[in-house]
Amino acid sequence: MKKLIYLDNAATTQVSKEVVDEMLPYFTEEYGNASSVYEFGSKNKGAIEKAREVIGKALGSKANEIYFTAGGSESDNWAIKATADAYKEKGNHIITSKIEHHAVLHTCEYLEEQGFEVTYLDVDENGIIKLEELKKAIRPTTILISIMFANNEIGTIEPMKEIGELANQNNILFHTDAVQAFGQVPINVDEYHIDMLSASAHKLNGPKGIGFLYIRTGVKIRSYVHGGAQERKRRAGTENVPGIVGMSKAVEIAVSTIEERAKKETELRDYLINRVLKEVPYTRLNGHRTKRLPNNVNFSFQFVEGESLLIMLDMEGICGSSGSACTSGSLDPSHVLLAIGLPHEIAHGSLRLSLSEQTSKEDIDFVIETIKKIVEKLRNMSPLYEDYIKNNN
Ligand SMILES: *Cc1c(COP(=O)(O)O)cnc(C)c1O
Repeated sequence: MKKLIYLDNAATTQVSKEVVDEMLPYFTEEYGNASSVYEFGSKNKGAIEKAREVIGKALGSKANEIYFTAGGSESDNWAIKATADAYKEKGNHIITSKIEHHAVLHTCEYLEEQGFEVTYLDVDENGIIKLEELKKAIRPTTILISIMFANNEIGTIEPMKEIGELANQNNILFHTDAVQAFGQVPINVDEYHIDMLSASAHKLNGPKGIGFLYIRTGVKIRSYVHGGAQERKRRAGTENVPGIVGMSKAVEIAVSTIEERAKKETELRDYLINRVLKEVPYTRLNGHRTKRLPNNVNFSFQFVEGESLLIMLDMEGICGSSGSACTSGSLDPSHVLLAIGLPHEIAHGSLRLSLSEQTSKEDIDFVIETIKKIVEKLRNMSPLYEDYIKNNN
């Protein structure tokens, strides 16, 4: 069997053994409903509240400002739709960026159909939003700024502090999709004036289908899922105790190892970037060189079709992701790569590799050699490349 080299940690991560061990008893032994009266069930409330403490502490927030959800997409939907609903008397304008995750973009598009006005900010060639443009976009009717902490495709980290200050000075709520950043870079909600923050466990070695939304005390937010009284009557549904406990453990581990992981992953990331840029001609790095997630690498290889590259990497046991949205059945290049100004044909030849703590130097060396071989092979089959070489010699 070929060794699997999993470099798609931005899509999802392996659940760590410690996390699974923490979760297991809540499936088999401690399965009681946390909202029940009897001790067998209600004692699980303790586990839930402990998880809220752990996560609150990781963000510098209070435990009762953490609301459990079914993941990043739900948290984004909740933050944006409920804010729009609760603040519609104040105004109908929302500011976001062109490079958000679809959970934010499609939610904003939905709200536009409901009569809200949305400004989608441009980003520069590195994927950083333009603060001057943000300033100009603010209107008396602006109720929400939603800008992601770090981008899931190109890894660029946004200027959170400056955005938070602008939002705060103008009395506008600030939501951030921190699904990629949380657990990888230190986050303090007060330091960045964040009013709402979305996160998801499966992006940080926790289980799928569980996440949370941080909501600052004082933010008027409507109940999103109607039903029972769980999550302070704001999000009904029997608590996912194994998920909550697992996420809490994953957060605990992520926070306590954040520095060493960032150091190790950044070194490997930069080694990969430097060698590929040097050894594979007609290649560019997408995203900011340094203001980027420790585990994210995104290249565009000219004269190469991203999907073919992915398939050939897969045959060598390497899991990566392309910049296009082909996985979702569409052949359009990624909205993020187009927003940073890449022409269609170059955006199509993109490859995202996202590392984990488990990634080794040997893995990366193998990946580099494999990329070199495959890219050369694909280019030798490309009529565009042939023309290019002919015309430039
Ligand atoms: C993965 C991801 C999401 C969606 O999270 P789910 O838990 O899979 O719903 C949202 N935003 C970003 C930036 C992501 O990377």
